[in-house]
Amino acid sequence: MKILVLNSGSSSLKYQLIDADTEDVLARGIAERIAVKGGGGKVTHEASPVGRFEVTGDMADHDEAIRRVFDLLTDPEKGAVSSVREISAVGHRVVHGGEKFVESTIVNEEILSEIEKMSTLAPLHNPPNLEGIRACIRLMPGVPQVAVFDTAFHATMPDYAYTYALPYNYYSDYRVRRYGFHGTSHRYVAGEAQQLLKERGLDLASTKIITCHLGNGCSITAIVGGKVVDTSMGMTPAEGLMMGTRGGDIDPGILVYLAREHNATPDEIDELINKRSGLLGVSGVSSDMRDVQKAAAEGSSRAQLALAMFCYRIKKYIGAYAAAMGGLDAIVFTGGIGENSSEIRASVCDGLEFLGVKLDPDKNNYPFEGDASSAVTADITTDASLVKVFVIRTNEERMIARETAEVVRKSGVEARR
Ligand code: ADP
Repeated sequence: MKILVLNSGSSSLKYQLIDADTEDVLARGIAERIAVKGGGGKVTHEASPVGRFEVTGDMADHDEAIRRVFDLLTDPEKGAVSSVREISAVGHRVVHGGEKFVESTIVNEEILSEIEKMSTLAPLHNPPNLEGIRACIRLMPGVPQVAVFDTAFHATMPDYAYTYALPYNYYSDYRVRRYGFHGTSHRYVAGEAQQLLKERGLDLASTKIITCHLGNGCSITAIVGGKVVDTSMGMTPAEGLMMGTRGGDIDPGILVYLAREHNATPDEIDELINKRSGLLGVSGVSSDMRDVQKAAAEGSSRAQLALAMFCYRIKKYIGAYAAAMGGLDAIVFTGGIGENSSEIRASVCDGLEFLGVKLDPDKNNYPFEGDASSAVTADITTDASLVKVFVIRTNEERMIARETAEVVRKSGVEARR
């Protein structure tokens, strides 16, 4: 079954065509500057044996971008299929599923309008996600379109973990609660970690895992027996760990103070906590971890402070989640920073020996980055380490393809071939 996986943003669209039976990636690419004035639209497409190449040309909307992608996928020389009809289903990343969507689902008009309602919770993400779905419905009628939600994996959190200590009607009337994000990534790496623990003889039903997704956005999740019990992102992706441009946890009183004393408007506060804080805000250098590390190595005390804060916050959460779960079997690092930075991993794990974590410095220096042939999972602890620390390359597209294929199979919808 060939599944097209789409991650549709406001001006970009990432895609992968995946054979769900072998999990091979048949083609992948990204369309950029969709509906952006001033030109520069292009699609970067990659399929073997042709390799990677660019096709330039503006795209007025998501329909046009997807049509361009279909042309590339079916190109006799550069494509991967002879006809769009070979695509059995499309799996769409949808950021917010609210409380309604606790698992992936085939989209119909009713579901679309429900997802639309969640747009107030994710105004930057859900609308473009929906544009991608609508374009596919128009361009490939009859092909199942499956929504895979970033929030769904976190739906198993108990009420005492997802409820904020506000007056209860803020939850019951407005659904103000913790939802959590990056669910597809946490789910994928937790599944891989569970397999590694199983090989060590652990019972899958009771494994206690903490997954650290550290990319531009960062979140950390506590997972018992494959089910999420807590996660750091909240009603929005602003809560929790320190990130590239988001500050994560802060005293909410600060926002009241800024509004009252400095007349900060909601938009200014939004920009402050989401775009001007985190690594960028503290270091004053960049939101990119590599730049911050370089500046720290060159002596910037603010970059050094940003790094120390970044790692300290993760360590605090690990301690909290180990306590919440009543133990810990494994910590997983993933995302651009988690997969590539041995320094950050070492700094986070430094001092966690009391929990049973013993990092092996040589294994931790495993060269993941830029080495396509390098392993996608590694155990970076000593044999004596009671808690395993894994580096696992995340693969959200593969997870979405798996989910999509499963939903289509379960639903009995006749997949086109
Ligand atoms: P996104 O969350 O947008 O998918 P990624 O998961 O690619 O982003 O993560 C981007 C982050 O990973 C950036 O902060 C980048 O600096 C960081 N990163 C990538 N490679 C390295 C590396 N070798 N060392 C440290 N950080 C890295």
